[in-house]
Amino acid sequence: MSLAGKVVIVTGASTGIGATTAEYFAKLGAKVVLVGRNEAKLRSSAAACRLANKDAEQLILIADVTEKAEYIIDSTIQKFGQLDVLVNNAGIFETGNILDVDVDQFDRILNTNLRSVFLLTKYAAPHLVKSQGNIVNVSSLAGLRSFKDVSVYCVSKAALDQFTRCIALDLASKNVRVNAVNPGAVATDIGIRNGMTVEEYAAHLEKSKETYPLGRTGVTNEVADAIIFLASDSSSFITGATLPIDGGKHAVCPR
Ligand code: NDP
Repeated sequence: MSLAGKVVIVTGASTGIGATTAEYFAKLGAKVVLVGRNEAKLRSSAAACRLANKDAEQLILIADVTEKAEYIIDSTIQKFGQLDVLVNNAGIFETGNILDVDVDQFDRILNTNLRSVFLLTKYAAPHLVKSQGNIVNVSSLAGLRSFKDVSVYCVSKAALDQFTRCIALDLASKNVRVNAVNPGAVATDIGIRNGMTVEEYAAHLEKSKETYPLGRTGVTNEVADAIIFLASDSSSFITGATLPIDGGKHAVCPR
């Protein structure tokens, strides 16, 4: 399908990967539903969408994905009458060794990165069957590989990958595709939100470069490009895929 005129929900569209993805969909003429909690940042993402395409319609939904999944889908249908693509991008990253993490952190991460995706998918699915649409989940390299002191986040993304494959199978006979992207490190607000200073996050990204076969970390455009690809007809025979966008890091084995 061409993405022009299609109705696309992007959760976590206020910053980072989601903001760039919303802008890319708008540029292609999609009607974008921007979801997040921070109104000011959502409005600035919406302005960037308008700059990319002054004619593209949009809907801003100030909503917490852990609480408002049904509202997000219902509001989209109320405004546009259909749903073609659901991009489950909203997510949080937190670190902690098993000796320190508590169950609140476990619940917070799983509620945001997994449970909300389950609910959004459940409410969206009948509409996607009608429109013959598709879902793109934003997972992580942490879903495919294991990292010290990141157990809960890794588990949330590994579960999201498995959810992606299972729902791809559930909906395949209805011709609804479900895929995921698995980015490596990409400079966004994510490190700062996890408590790093700007300097610490920059230093972390700089040091990370050494671990990437392509010699650098990623940028949001590279993830948005892959999301657009998976949401479009260019990937019409791809479903259940978890696509690493990580400069080859998933393939590395220390020696
Ligand atoms: P950001 O922190 O910049 O963006 C996260 C987005 O999620 C924000 O728009 C935030 O919006 C939204 N969000 C978080 N919690 C909620 C919630 N409860 N309800 C609604 N919206 C929420 O990070 P990224 O752009 O980097 O992250 C996007 C996705 O990419 C995440 O799923 C992350 O796990 C994944 N990812 C990121 C990587 C990276 O290195 N950056 C690497 C691999 C994966 P608001 O604050 O307005 O609610």
